[in-house]
Amino acid sequence: MNAIQADIQVDETALAELSASFTGELVRPRDTTYDEHRRVWNGSIDRFPALIARCGGAADVVAAVRFATSSGLPVAVRSGGHSYPGQSVCDGGIVIDLGPMKGISVEPEARTARVQAGVLWGELDRTTQSFGLATTGGIVSHTGVAGLTLGGGIGWLHRRHGLTIDQLLSVDLITAGGDGVKASQTESSDLFWGLRGGGGNFGIATEFEFRLHPVGPSVLAGPIFWPIEQAPGLLRFYREWSAEAPDELMTMVVQRKAPPLPFVPRELHGELVVAVVCCYAGPIEDGERVVRPLRAFGSPALDLCEPKSYVAHQATFDRSFPHGWRYYFRACDVAELSDDVIDVMVEHGRRIVSPISSVAFFQMGGAVARVGESETAFNGRDAAFTFNINGNSPTAEGFEAERGWARAFWSALQPYHTSVYVNFLMDEGRERIRQAYGAGKYERLRALKRTYDPTNVFRLNQNIPPD
Ligand SMILES: Cc1cc2nc3c(=O)[nH]c(=O)nc-3n(C[C@H](O)[C@H](O)[C@H](O)COP(=O)(O)OP(=O)(O)OC[C@H]3O[C@@H](n4cnc5c(N)ncnc54)[C@H](O)[C@@H]3O)c2cc1C
Repeated sequence: MNAIQADIQVDETALAELSASFTGELVRPRDTTYDEHRRVWNGSIDRFPALIARCGGAADVVAAVRFATSSGLPVAVRSGGHSYPGQSVCDGGIVIDLGPMKGISVEPEARTARVQAGVLWGELDRTTQSFGLATTGGIVSHTGVAGLTLGGGIGWLHRRHGLTIDQLLSVDLITAGGDGVKASQTESSDLFWGLRGGGGNFGIATEFEFRLHPVGPSVLAGPIFWPIEQAPGLLRFYREWSAEAPDELMTMVVQRKAPPLPFVPRELHGELVVAVVCCYAGPIEDGERVVRPLRAFGSPALDLCEPKSYVAHQATFDRSFPHGWRYYFRACDVAELSDDVIDVMVEHGRRIVSPISSVAFFQMGGAVARVGESETAFNGRDAAFTFNINGNSPTAEGFEAERGWARAFWSALQPYHTSVYVNFLMDEGRERIRQAYGAGKYERLRALKRTYDPTNVFRLNQNIPPD
């Protein structure tokens, strides 16, 4: 589809009625801002919606949902625009974009925050950190709060405080029928269960209320790099060392070519490296003690693990994942870092060609695993590590080869897959979504879907069809 074909899909009379009361911006293919607003983070996605309804508040969301359902056109919901498979934009349909809804209000005494759906993690962290507080959020600061939260939410604080959904106190939602619902432990609690992991299946979240925790403002954090040749020994050492780590420590292990960033010495640029990225969410001195044995392993090529502001650490990976590059992604959870898993990681990590492809795994456990598996729709709380295999390229050139590399890596790990985090799925089909939730939760989510979105208006997502 192109912009001209997209433009003719909309009923002009109905649109005029919508625009009479709409406080945000209605963007059509003929408008100068159309390209800016139809683009999503993943540059490999190039879709042409008929209308982008950039909502100014909950009333605009209600009006946009009613307009969209009466038009019968496909509906995509966008907040931060970071869906890997580009599910927040569609061809010929309506994008309900919550990006302009940026309200944040913090109650420092109660340690809570109310956050509108268009807020990005960097924006929320900067605000809560001005009170010395934070909640579990993603590791790239330009990711949206809304999509990340509804899928579960992992990040530097999850081992200490739990998933992002474990911090949720309530969600304000507009259903497919255009009705407002508040979901919490005491109101529409069945819906609240489903919203904590079930993604955008049940409606459009306009506002979230989170629990906050004292964090930082300084944390001991950052990457320590070793030459790739030391990866087999390092990963075995890491397995033992991380198993004893306190919940305050969250680590990620990354294999990639060292980026040409100012803090990376020139001689390392483009060299394959393995890095352990740490974040100790507790007193700096305690963190130093915990990290000391890791620093002493082998001969690190570069050690950037140091006291820094939590907000700065949250942006560590921002420049590695800018808007507009081509991103392909495969993910899985594993129960342990067995010798076989390490061998796969080392072998396929050495085959990285693109300077921006990488493999990383998040260390799980801690507070995530202490919440009961059935308490929320999120599945796989007992996973030990979550793998991200990123086959990326700045332009179309070489992208297919990177996708092939990511697929081959993922397939080699297949014997060790346990679960998969739903926010780390590409367009992988219905059976894979079912696997992600497990049969029991999937059926419970389907029953909820029948109640809140029986005609599957919200289907451009990791979809749980009602029938
Ligand atoms: C660079 C990058 C880093 C990431 N890092 C992490 C990480 O550290 N931890 C982690 O847990 N995940 C991470 N993710 C995955 C992330 O959680 C998902 O991509 C998430 O969907 C992004 O949310 P968004 O609002 O930015 O995306 P969008 O593309 O706007 O939305 C994605 C989907 O979420 C749903 N949705 C969005 N907003 C709403 C809403 N208001 N109401 C109802 N449904 C909605 C829709 O189905 C939509 O298709 C990362 C992704 C990227 C691209």
